[in-house]
Amino acid sequence: MNHGLESAQPAAPLTSFVPSRGEALNRLKDFVVRAGSDYRANRNHDGGAGQHVYVSQLSPYIRNGLISEEEVVATILKSHTFAEAEKFLQEVFWRVYWKGYLENRPVLWTRYREDLEILKNKAADYQDYPRADSASTGIKCFDTWSQELQETGYLHNHTRMWFASIWIFTLKLPWQLGADFFLRHLLDGDPASNTLSWRWVAGLHTKGKNYLARSSNIAKFTANRFPDVNGLATQADAIEESHPDSPITSTELPLPPPFLSNGQGLLILDEDLREHIPSLDPTTPVLGLYPELSYEVENTSPTVSTYKKACLAEALASLESKHGCNTEFTPQPTARNILEWAKRNNLQTLFLAQPQVGPWRDLWHSIAASLKAEGVALSYFRPWWEKELFPSATHGFFKFRKGIQSVAQRMSAEDSSNRHASS
Ligand SMILES: Cc1cc2nc3c(=O)[nH]c(=O)nc-3n(C[C@H](O)[C@H](O)[C@H](O)COP(=O)(O)OP(=O)(O)OC[C@H]3O[C@@H](n4cnc5c(N)ncnc54)[C@H](O)[C@@H]3O)c2cc1C
Repeated sequence: MNHGLESAQPAAPLTSFVPSRGEALNRLKDFVVRAGSDYRANRNHDGGAGQHVYVSQLSPYIRNGLISEEEVVATILKSHTFAEAEKFLQEVFWRVYWKGYLENRPVLWTRYREDLEILKNKAADYQDYPRADSASTGIKCFDTWSQELQETGYLHNHTRMWFASIWIFTLKLPWQLGADFFLRHLLDGDPASNTLSWRWVAGLHTKGKNYLARSSNIAKFTANRFPDVNGLATQADAIEESHPDSPITSTELPLPPPFLSNGQGLLILDEDLREHIPSLDPTTPVLGLYPELSYEVENTSPTVSTYKKACLAEALASLESKHGCNTEFTPQPTARNILEWAKRNNLQTLFLAQPQVGPWRDLWHSIAASLKAEGVALSYFRPWWEKELFPSATHGFFKFRKGIQSVAQRMSAEDSSNRHASS
């Protein structure tokens, strides 16, 4: 089913990430022909800033749901068999795996945040920390990547692995400071994919199996732009954790409802813009939440916060034009502001996709408690593929992988209307 398109020339590389769904869809459309054997053969090559022609560069759009995993998989499977595009599809499901894994072991996030607070106060002890930030460590490839990340908000996957490895094993900086550096600068910054990938490189995900960047590997996959990287660590010291166990504490959630009724409103967080509810009535009030203060406090790069805000605005505008909904936006998602909006619209129940384990879940705890105390009911939901796959995201990817093909085929089935819970 690849229609003989595999040998097509790579599309023009994406040099900047326009915060729009139209841009994401165009990008996906252009990428489809390269999602099979081209991707399988070339995905590990990093062409350099503005030259990432072998990968999709869809992550900033998938991360915040301007396009959903389901749409991406369904589009790819219209032009390829599962086997042809398996490598690419697997990568999309790595994202679901990491998200499910952190959902099942939220304590990993809590401990990361606790460690980070302590480490930030000791940052002066690490001389290479400010150098990594200002791209002046003297390791040319690393400094180039630090600069690319801060200027574009994106790094190729292989480069993220090398970067994290050099950060941890060569510069001997704490992985938590590196994960924070990425989260503040990546347009696709995701608490699950990011924290758990840093743990994976550090050898904390698969115990004792870490990732050591090698000079020959960097030279090979960067078209020799960095031919001889001197001084890289040749062995990795094991990293000890004070709490090696992470208990599993997962929660079952219902599917999104097919529509909302009188007295029910929809909350949309800037981290999840997927269109979960297919038939929104024009009278349904929708409130978009953008945590401006949190981004300031976390020192999030303005490139990232501006992008997130623009994507939320675009998603709200799209709901208005598609369903005629009455949408509002707040950059101060306090319980008070949400309550005031709910009262103004006579709402008793607020629906929302469950905030992801990470900054939003942390923020949401106290907001939810205050709303409940005021008598507002909160109803959380989760899309069907997450419901299906999260229970097997408890151990390695190997176990998780077994469920991917049937979910992918179901994603590509034409009629998605029966996937939603009845009201
Ligand atoms: C240290 C480190 C930190 C990372 N931090 C993040 C992060 O904060 N957010 C994030 O989305 N990804 C993260 N990744 C995973 C991966 O690097 C990016 O998803 C990928 O580079 C995005 O580029 P792309 O869209 O061109 O990917 P493609 O190769 O075109 O893949 C298609 C899609 O699959 C998903 N994907 C691909 N590889 C992975 C992976 N290894 N893990 C999870 N999902 C994947 C992404 O949604 C991506 O858009 C990290 C990886 C490492 C090693």
